[in-house]
Amino acid sequence: MKGLLIAGPCSAESEEQVLQSAIQVRDAGIGLFRAGLWKPRTRPGGFEGVGEAGIGWLVAARERTGLDVCTEAACAGHVRICLDNGITTIWLGARTVANPFAVQDIADALRAAGGCRRILVKNPPSPDLELWLGAIERLQGCGEIVAVHRGFKGGGSGPYRNDPLWELAVEFRAGHPSIPLLCDPSHIAGTRELVPEIAQRALDLGFDGLMIETHPNPSEALSDSAQQLSPKELEALLALLVERGNSGSDPVLEELRARLDAIDEQLLSVIAGRMEVCRNIGEVKKRGGLPIIQPGRWEEVMRKVESRASELGLDKGFARRIFEILHAESVSNQE
Ligand code: PEP
Ligand code: MN
Repeated sequence: MKGLLIAGPCSAESEEQVLQSAIQVRDAGIGLFRAGLWKPRTRPGGFEGVGEAGIGWLVAARERTGLDVCTEAACAGHVRICLDNGITTIWLGARTVANPFAVQDIADALRAAGGCRRILVKNPPSPDLELWLGAIERLQGCGEIVAVHRGFKGGGSGPYRNDPLWELAVEFRAGHPSIPLLCDPSHIAGTRELVPEIAQRALDLGFDGLMIETHPNPSEALSDSAQQLSPKELEALLALLVERGNSGSDPVLEELRARLDAIDEQLLSVIAGRMEVCRNIGEVKKRGGLPIIQPGRWEEVMRKVESRASELGLDKGFARRIFEILHAESVSNQE
């Protein structure tokens, strides 16, 4: 792959695990190794990272493998520890990016130390491009900025841990074409099976690289166990990914396609919600001994559909056909 590839475990857990992971990442042909020392956890009580104790493991892994290494910095103290140990690529996690005070402290610490090589800035958990851009602006001049799309906290109804909301990533890119944009399919997916399709989608949308979580033994990982790839899965993924040249590289077309996908997703959720309500109605009718089809009611629904369709500039016949299909499916679900 031509873009920037980063891989490594969610967390540094032991010196041996860090070294083993780094060797596997290098053998997969990847040049930049990641491992989190300080882990931001939504709730206390989980594994919060080994902290400063692990910095030497990263340095040792870099020396043994020749890989460039990076870790997450969430405050000025973390920045200083990284820079003191020659770790000059850092990433800012989603939760940190959501906090302008923390980002400013990090930017000040970087400036005071003369900056660093590269700063990866993840999107904040909320779908707020301004907040993401605000963090990037605060870090301007502190090192090369790379944005990382890691998905957005959604209602939990979709298949992913974090909704990709591709249309936002595409909008970000169209507005800021000079900022390299990576995708972190691991934190979007939440489960390892979904990582490949997200990684491929990102490449199809012209992303500039990927940050992937991988662990020598994912089932025993102390954090994000379900989403980390084994070394074999990482190699299989890299072999599978296709760079489709320039297809879809027109930013206007990309944005429109991403918007269409988002609308289709909403349409399906709305239809599923409608079916659920119909099933509930079916149960109520059954309990009350009412017939499933009540023609008066259906004619009234259709009248409303046609009049609303006209207001929205839709063809009445088209709207009628859609609702006839929905109605037929609802009736068969109520039987
Ligand atoms: C991580 O990369 O391990 C991490 C905590 O990511 P995020 O900040 O995107 O949740
Ligand atoms: Mn993680």
